[in-house]
Amino acid sequence: MTRVMLLGGTAEARDLAARLTADGVEVMSSLAGRIADPRLPVGDVRVGGFGGVDGLRAVLSDYDAVVDATHPFAKTISANAVAACIGEGRPLLRLERPGWADRSGESWHWVDSHEQAAETAGRLGRRPFLTVGRQEMARFVPDLGEHAVLARVVQAPDAPIPAAWRLVTSRGPYHLAGELRLMRDHRTDVLITKDSGGEHTWPKMAAAGELGVPVVIVRRPARPHDVPTVHDVADAVAWVRAIPAGPR
Ligand code: NAP
Repeated sequence: MTRVMLLGGTAEARDLAARLTADGVEVMSSLAGRIADPRLPVGDVRVGGFGGVDGLRAVLSDYDAVVDATHPFAKTISANAVAACIGEGRPLLRLERPGWADRSGESWHWVDSHEQAAETAGRLGRRPFLTVGRQEMARFVPDLGEHAVLARVVQAPDAPIPAAWRLVTSRGPYHLAGELRLMRDHRTDVLITKDSGGEHTWPKMAAAGELGVPVVIVRRPARPHDVPTVHDVADAVAWVRAIPAGPR
């Protein structure tokens, strides 16, 4: 039986874990442990950092291959996966949902950092809908601390948020009708997002388009170029099928 280390924390990773397990592949899904009550994939799961490249490399002797299906903005773990797999001679596949660049709308403002996103959104509106996640929220406080921000996160941040902000905790799935309602109720005049891409969080983008709300989008961080990459879970399944099981 082929054994795969699946670096996860995304819907695609959960989907892949389910399909590989059904296929008879031995999958170990790895989560960072950021969320207290994460959605768990099918099969075995480990939680928490490995302790850098050396820690990840040390566990790879138990696996025939690695699939990095982490979020497009989780660049440290992806870089660690490349270094560890090269060191251990393990095949590595990157599964990454397509970005939104090819859907670019008329009033989309692309920026290279969260700080630029804060500055741009501050010029565009007074009532931003901030959807970049808990870890990045503090980077918006200097520019948007006085704005009527609606911040949506999966889990509330540890640090207090500005008095002018309102926090909603939820983790989807999101639908167009709900996103339209939320943005109308808040009177959102600018949406801030990462280029998370894919379909799972697309309804907020569609809602912004329908309401004529400008969107500020943070570009994805650069990634290693020489890693085989697929954008579809079915292609990741096919890649794993071609990996022979190593000796136990
Ligand atoms: P990151 O900055 O790339 O990683 C920071 C450190 O967290 C890594 O060096 C590693 O610690 C640990 N880590 C990250 N992902 C891990 C995983 N899947 N399994 C074990 N350890 C992991 O990552 P991040 O941006 O904080 O994201 C953390 C997790 O949340 C990822 O699994 C990602 O898929 C998920 N996520 C991230 C975002 C986002 O916007 N960044 C959005 C949705 C979901 P060690 O060095 O100790 O191994």
